[in-house]
Amino acid sequence: MPGTELFGAEEKKEVMDVLETGILFRYNHDKERKGHWKAKSFENELARYHGVRYAHVTSSGTTADNLALACCGIGVGDEVIVPPFTFIAPVEAVLQAGAIPVFAEIDETLCLYPAGIEAAITPRTKAVMLVHMCGSMAQVDKIAEVCKKHNLILIEDTAQALGASFKNQLLGTFGKVAVYSFDFFKIVTAGEGGAIITDDPHLYEIAAQHADHGHSHVGNNRGAEPHPVFGTNFRLSEIHAAIGLAQFRKLPYILEHQRRNKLKLEQTLSKFPQISFRKIPDKKGDSATFLDFFLKDEPTARKVLKVFDRFGIGYAYWFDNNYHYFKNWDHIKKIKSAAPLAISLFKPSQNYASLSLPQSDKIMSRLISIQIRITWTEEEIKGLSEKIENALQEVL
Ligand SMILES: *Cc1c(COP(=O)(O)O)cnc(C)c1O
Repeated sequence: MPGTELFGAEEKKEVMDVLETGILFRYNHDKERKGHWKAKSFENELARYHGVRYAHVTSSGTTADNLALACCGIGVGDEVIVPPFTFIAPVEAVLQAGAIPVFAEIDETLCLYPAGIEAAITPRTKAVMLVHMCGSMAQVDKIAEVCKKHNLILIEDTAQALGASFKNQLLGTFGKVAVYSFDFFKIVTAGEGGAIITDDPHLYEIAAQHADHGHSHVGNNRGAEPHPVFGTNFRLSEIHAAIGLAQFRKLPYILEHQRRNKLKLEQTLSKFPQISFRKIPDKKGDSATFLDFFLKDEPTARKVLKVFDRFGIGYAYWFDNNYHYFKNWDHIKKIKSAAPLAISLFKPSQNYASLSLPQSDKIMSRLISIQIRITWTEEEIKGLSEKIENALQEVL
């Protein structure tokens, strides 16, 4: 991670196709675009890769979250179970929909887990927003069963785990709809961009219309198209789609190199019995963007961070990160929002200001993540491994 490491001639070629025609808009202009349909091609390749019938690209992963909720009909008064450890976008999307996020505990998969979800279900629960964090997966098969049993819609936010799988089934294909992001930091980047995928024709139709002001996309005269549903603008430009398309074709290469590099770093850390690793339900399916490991307690983790700083070792300590962990979301705890209508109707069943998630705190405070680069050379990995080993020896 991320795909930006691999920018090259392929991205330039796809972008030049678009610039040469000047058709930056994804719909219509059939003659002028000289056969270039970047958004459509990207969608076709995304859907084919996942073995589902439909994909629809959007302007960002966040708008893909918005779109997933909208096309599932989730709105005011509905509760959606969300994790406290996530990039904040899916929680923002629930609030934007006028729905109510209900935070459930995570386990050592770093994701929501079956018993935690069941404990958070109320009569108002409509959906589970399952976020596959840091390139790996939740116990997604069991969670799908829980959703089925309780008649809940399963939305997978797979923004961080494109190409990851569980028992040979790609993440994003376990629920009703899945969300992807192609922002600058993701496995595949378009600069900005996102997508939803689904196998449900009705849901896809609503999504494609909703993401473009409700346009039906039937015929060649945009001004004369009917608007079967209410909508907005979540469109992706052809330039962004072109970059995303070129990047997406590099995914097998990205996964192969991340997995190989992660394994080497993991071997170094395995020499320390004081360290344990994040629980990964299917190690073979990990997209390997991060190496996530636990220290025995928070003070030990903080000591390790200090030595890592001194050694110049890069890491993420999500427990303190303002955009990835609930503990630090004062704006949500105080419900400061630019969506006053939704908030005025809002009757949260949790008091966010006093909400305590002791199990998640305990897990997150012990967790350190190291980002895996695609383009590391043998020497770079060796050098980093040595540094990590020396650093840990000082503390453990
Ligand atoms: C990045 C991310 C998003 C949002 O993507 P943007 O393209 O940055 O809007 C949504 N969910 C998760 C889990 C993410 O990591």
